[in-house]
Amino acid sequence: MVYRAIAQFLSQQLSNCLLCGVARAARSGLCADCRDQLPTLDRGCRVCALPLPPAAAICPQCIQYPPAFASAQAAWHYAYPVAQLLQRFKYQGDLAAGRTLSFVAAGCLEPRGELRPQLLLPIPVHWRRLWQRGFNQAQLIAAEFSRHWRIPVAPRLLGKLTPGTAQQQLSRAQRLRNLRRSFRVQHPVAGLHLGLVDDVITTGATLNAAADMLRRAGAARVSAYALARTP
Ligand SMILES: [Zn+2]
Ligand SMILES: [Zn+2]
Repeated sequence: MVYRAIAQFLSQQLSNCLLCGVARAARSGLCADCRDQLPTLDRGCRVCALPLPPAAAICPQCIQYPPAFASAQAAWHYAYPVAQLLQRFKYQGDLAAGRTLSFVAAGCLEPRGELRPQLLLPIPVHWRRLWQRGFNQAQLIAAEFSRHWRIPVAPRLLGKLTPGTAQQQLSRAQRLRNLRRSFRVQHPVAGLHLGLVDDVITTGATLNAAADMLRRAGAARVSAYALARTP
């Protein structure tokens, strides 16, 4: 089921622009005008990609609690029309929307030289969610990044033990502990530079928990890549 979803995802061929419908859109599925209007995230926290005012380089949160990942990057702000395309992808199974975003983001975020991770790891979802939805959106995005960047994906290196639960009432430390326990590192990672892939970075807590588990298992460095970042 998962492999069929990946193959289907990667083979999306769009002839009309996904947003304005104009014919002969680029291979990405967007015409040049619509593509230029995507809300590019050009000023984000160097560590967690949180949108920041021009003068700041690192957000207060990352200064106070440095996360376990070395850097996170997102291609866009979580705003119109990226947010709508992401929702179509995630909740309505619109693979064309997801593939277009992944295709364009792969070009924006491509890591170079020493910053290239050795493996890409999609943030896993619990099997129950996978079963309901039929695909893990992070795995599809990672497949597209992998094809552009020529970096292999290790889809089962990180396992998800518990479904996501509401954690609003818990303290920061409790939340991190619970989140960390929800992941399992299933293969040796000592000394590796790993690239986590997710659709949206919201608080960064999930990425931090996954990165923390990987660092505890000996990973040398963890970088993260996402399509969008919420404010
Ligand atoms: Zn267009
Ligand atoms: Zn930050």
